[in-house]
Amino acid sequence: MSPAPTLAQLTTIGVGGAVDRFVEPESEEAFTAEVRDADAAGLPLLVIGGGSNLLVADAPFHGVVVRDARRGISVVDDQAEADGGSVVITAQAGASWDDFVAFCVASGFSGVEGLSGVPGTVGASVVQNIGAYGQEVASAVSSVRVFDRKNGSVCRLEREDMRFGYRNSALKSSMYSAPATPAGNYFPTPRYVVLSVTFALRRSESDEVAFGQLAKALGVELGERKPIAAIRAAVLSVRATKGMLEDPNRYALPSMRGCRDEHNVAAATLQDQPDFNRHSCGSFFMNPILEPAQAVHLPADAPRFDAILPDGQPGVKTSAAWLIDHAGFHKGFKVRPDAKAGLSTLHTLALTNRGGAGAKDIAELARTIQDGVEAAYGIRLVPEPVVVGMDLR
Ligand SMILES: Cc1cc2nc3c(=O)[nH]c(=O)nc-3n(C[C@H](O)[C@H](O)[C@H](O)COP(=O)(O)OP(=O)(O)OC[C@H]3O[C@@H](n4cnc5c(N)ncnc54)[C@H](O)[C@@H]3O)c2cc1C
Repeated sequence: MSPAPTLAQLTTIGVGGAVDRFVEPESEEAFTAEVRDADAAGLPLLVIGGGSNLLVADAPFHGVVVRDARRGISVVDDQAEADGGSVVITAQAGASWDDFVAFCVASGFSGVEGLSGVPGTVGASVVQNIGAYGQEVASAVSSVRVFDRKNGSVCRLEREDMRFGYRNSALKSSMYSAPATPAGNYFPTPRYVVLSVTFALRRSESDEVAFGQLAKALGVELGERKPIAAIRAAVLSVRATKGMLEDPNRYALPSMRGCRDEHNVAAATLQDQPDFNRHSCGSFFMNPILEPAQAVHLPADAPRFDAILPDGQPGVKTSAAWLIDHAGFHKGFKVRPDAKAGLSTLHTLALTNRGGAGAKDIAELARTIQDGVEAAYGIRLVPEPVVVGMDLR
């Protein structure tokens, strides 16, 4: 039997220790049995997808890492006779998110093309409600089939039950008792383990361009319609210029082989930038949502957007990238010239492994930035990735 891959081999940022047991169940029954058995034995459980939103400590993970090997995508209901009619599609949790988007775009189903190139799986997409270029997965989700670790049963969560918010859902909330503070029972895997997601999309070859930068790349006005294939291509190319596509070479690793469609891996090679910029978790910090009284203290030129606070009250969202940059941490920043971790040279929000970094190097960089931003603006940035075995509050 080959040894279990390390978390460095299973995550996009390429750090993390050995694991005691790694399994890839091929049926829903086998998947839920692995989760149930780990919980019954009181073992730490990490249900992993693409490992693109995880920062795991260098110490061994003495528990079970489970990756759903099912990658099926099926059209459940395509009664749409006319352009604009709705289509219902179900994808299994282990399906690559970008394979799913590619399938939808090729089939003429609109609603997720703005999320092209987001790494990871369909299962994890609903955990943090992925979003980019004017779209969020929440607006495409109809329901989610889950295994409830509390009751030991399979059930269906409707979209309203998911309580989607900015990079948040009922699933993600179940893991935390306060920002970046793991809850006792369900961490680093939510109470509800996603088995499959059902989406309601539109049958339409075109969609509105909902993001300024994308409109610019496409040479159209915001709100204009463009073919979804053109939107997907523009998103991939804008992401490439920012190092926001994962390193396709990882799919050659034995631990990652077969995780996504070979044809679509090639689409992610659109980049002539150094690969190290891609060894990240994407955006490392969430955009802070402040109470109005706190937002008053932001500098006049800081970005401000209307937002909703976790308690449902109106708040003000500002930009983590702006705060980081204005606190003096510019693209390419390193704690020391010879540090193995640094900010991406293309994107202020991405903490990257420049080669040979450990989790402790990434954590040192993260804390330096959190402390610097807090000293400058009184705001403590909260990590977006799930941080396992380290405290980055
Ligand atoms: C280069 C890059 C760019 C990125 N760009 C974006 C972006 O534009 N927008 C955005 O929102 N995110 C972005 N991300 C973050 C990341 O891609 C998403 O959060 C993605 O959904 C994570 O999926 P994953 O399968 O890799 O999850 P993992 O990292 O494997 O897991 C993350 C969490 O989800 C849980 N999880 C995984 N599978 C399941 C399941 N089946 N059931 C329940 N819980 C599960 C895990 O237990 C863990 O807590 C980016 C990341 C990278 C590396």
